[in-house]
Amino acid sequence: MAGNGHSGADGAAQPRTQANREDGPSPRAAAPLRIRSVEPIALEAPLPRAVATPITAIRTVVALLVAVRDDDGVEGWGEVWCNFPRFGFHHRARLLTEVFAPALRERSFASPAEAWAHLTSISNVLRLQSGESGPIAAVIAGLDIALHDIAAKKAGLPLWRMLGGASGRVPVYASLARSDDVRPAVERALARGLRAVKLRSSGSIADHLAVVRPIRALAGASCAIMLDVNSSWNADAALATIGQLAEARLAWLEEPIPVDAPADVWRRLADAAPMPLAGGENMVTPQMFDRALAEPALAVLQPDITKWGGFSGGVPLARRIAAAGRRYCPHTFAGAPGVIASAHLLAASGSADGMLEFGVNHNPVRDGLLGCAPEDGMLDLGDAPGLGFDVDRRALERFTVPV
Ligand SMILES: [Mg+2]
Repeated sequence: MAGNGHSGADGAAQPRTQANREDGPSPRAAAPLRIRSVEPIALEAPLPRAVATPITAIRTVVALLVAVRDDDGVEGWGEVWCNFPRFGFHHRARLLTEVFAPALRERSFASPAEAWAHLTSISNVLRLQSGESGPIAAVIAGLDIALHDIAAKKAGLPLWRMLGGASGRVPVYASLARSDDVRPAVERALARGLRAVKLRSSGSIADHLAVVRPIRALAGASCAIMLDVNSSWNADAALATIGQLAEARLAWLEEPIPVDAPADVWRRLADAAPMPLAGGENMVTPQMFDRALAEPALAVLQPDITKWGGFSGGVPLARRIAAAGRRYCPHTFAGAPGVIASAHLLAASGSADGMLEFGVNHNPVRDGLLGCAPEDGMLDLGDAPGLGFDVDRRALERFTVPV
């Protein structure tokens, strides 16, 4: 798959139509994209109990979906990252409707990648002036996912195949949320055939070991166990004690310290670590990914398609990660379009050892929409055109909040 690159001159992924997929150098250009409407849909549901995280206490699950319709009435779905702060979907929804929808409607685009490049360009000064790289990148990413869904539906191809993937089956791992009761959640994941699980911890080395030891005993030596510290470990304590995690035989340790910690601290931590280090979900500019790839510390890169890049930025980035010999394991957390889009991106990436993060926590704003579940550790995207999932709008109504 590595030879299937479809990078345009700007480095963004170009769609592959049914007409040009197999037939060499005389592609029939896809019809231009003309966008009629952009509709943000914010979803929120209460958690059974408030959950403390290293970032903030959370009482709800949230997701911001975006439905985009073109002039032919074809509907595409995307998702905009909005997990923190929990009220962030209001602002992002207004960015969608008041800044980016008019820019999409005022002209046509030859491809989703052209739209992504245009939206990125016209919002650059706003991004700098507002200091809002994250919300703006997330809104553009969500639109890009929806535009790719439209383009693939119109091409009659599953998105993974339009982007050059060889198979729509991707490996997944069970990702536990801090709201989960760990042991029963892991038991359920193992019973479903998942053989890789990610746990969460914070505090000291004793806290980390207390989380991992019983699960290693439960799951056995053949189960891949990862640990996510969500940037919360004191760097000096991590440097002094990370070696004690060797007994856990972790497949990776995720964000032990903040992603913006000095490069030399990350390097020393990677040298001391008895396992690969992972990060990337909190990178929201191309420069951050460039630095991560230039530095050796992160062996596992975890960009989130709903935070930066969509497919247009995400496909070239995923291929760079694989070409650099790093492991590409896309981060997902909130809603169904983000999970499904990340699976398509992994399938298109050419990664030999990537795994998709698949939340096994109770998440009503995601679970009712997914329409698919992993079997034997694999998620099969099938051959339906586009992202390949149907949205039951009535099912959304129960969780929709006004924005
Ligand atoms: Mg994480």
